[in-house]
Amino acid sequence: MTSFTLEATRVQTPAPTRASIDRVVFAVTDGEITAVEPAQSAAATTLREQSPAHVTLPATTAVTPGFVDLHVHAPQWEQNGTALDLPLEEWLFSYTFPLEASFADRLVAERVYPDLVSTLLAHGTTTAVYFASVHEEATVVLAETCRDLGQRALVGRVAMDHPEGTPEWYRDTDAAAGLAASRRSLLDVTASDNGRGLVRPILTPRFLPACTDELLTGLGQLAAETGTLIQTHGSESDWHAGYAFDRFGQSDTEAIARFGLLRDHTVLAHAPHVRSADLDRIAEAGSAIAHCPISNAYFANAVFPATEAAAAGVRVGLGTDIGAGIRPGVLQQINEAVTVSRLRADGVDATLVSDQRGVAGAAIDTVRAFWMATAGGAEALGLPVGLLEPGRRFDAVAINTTAPGSVIRWRDNEPDANRFEKLARLTTAADIDTVWVDGRRVHQR
Ligand SMILES: [Zn+2]
Repeated sequence: MTSFTLEATRVQTPAPTRASIDRVVFAVTDGEITAVEPAQSAAATTLREQSPAHVTLPATTAVTPGFVDLHVHAPQWEQNGTALDLPLEEWLFSYTFPLEASFADRLVAERVYPDLVSTLLAHGTTTAVYFASVHEEATVVLAETCRDLGQRALVGRVAMDHPEGTPEWYRDTDAAAGLAASRRSLLDVTASDNGRGLVRPILTPRFLPACTDELLTGLGQLAAETGTLIQTHGSESDWHAGYAFDRFGQSDTEAIARFGLLRDHTVLAHAPHVRSADLDRIAEAGSAIAHCPISNAYFANAVFPATEAAAAGVRVGLGTDIGAGIRPGVLQQINEAVTVSRLRADGVDATLVSDQRGVAGAAIDTVRAFWMATAGGAEALGLPVGLLEPGRRFDAVAINTTAPGSVIRWRDNEPDANRFEKLARLTTAADIDTVWVDGRRVHQR
């Protein structure tokens, strides 16, 4: 049994509309938060006195829940920051499929994945939901890398077999082969965790245009049979949303549901083109949306309707969509989720009169965006993380507001709301001192 206590300034969002800052003592045993007491209380004194290992962090260091990245394409890591000049459907064939195909070579995975996972940890990403590639071996390398570096992860072998939606040189040979590979990959990824409870498999049909009906049907049955979570892309662009109506005569969300893939904690990446009926359907199923604001600015032709999704009761977290999201780490996405919602609310074409330019009530604030990046992402996946409360796992990030070069300025006697907003908006990886996953220190500056 490993136990420790930590006194620190806790910063978190217990609700989408509420941020809190308080000085507390955490007690952590075997990765679980067993108690949280106000630092000045008698209970906190007892915890400190009885602790086998106690650490007190300075008041200028904030400890937040670890960040949950709901959408990462692991093999696209090395094209991050580049190649965003084409529409989605051309981008895939010109840049992305060739890069992903190179992971047929296990050595490529062994070179790229440790760099990716350690970089994400250094950016405070304690949980990541990964699309790997079609390759079973490289997918296991990713799962083992997460286990060895200590990141909580859902790792999915990408299933894709459609002869028109995928290139002949990068796809499952047919639906039966794809299904068999996904089934084996579930077992392999599960085994790679070694019973640690950190790394789990996730069924990953790339998106409807890349998959035949037979493969989609089989994956839906496999999910029902094994209870494995599912991820796919949902109505990402004008082209993607229109494709579903052309092929299935129904929306992308309805088609995903028809194949048995819209289940509890299914993660739909992007989904800016969901209609209100789709949002209701997603909420009813208990599925979630990975909102990827930066990626959407390049590929989605629209801004995700975050306020409508919240009103419909849909689970929403944030995603980087590496390599379409430009930067690693979820903190930047918090900023951009707020920014794009403001653009959507006000509209962007000044030649239109102001009341016809935007979508009334579409703006979200920093508190809600931070909540999406932490508790919202946890809720999307059904994981006991995202808040630093008793009964949850200690996945946390220590942010040093006085780190060399930091632009965070916490003034004396400044209201908590200001301190929170500065932290959420201005923190960079250079300010992140320590990252814990499951109570274990996995990054230290
Ligand atoms: Zn994606």
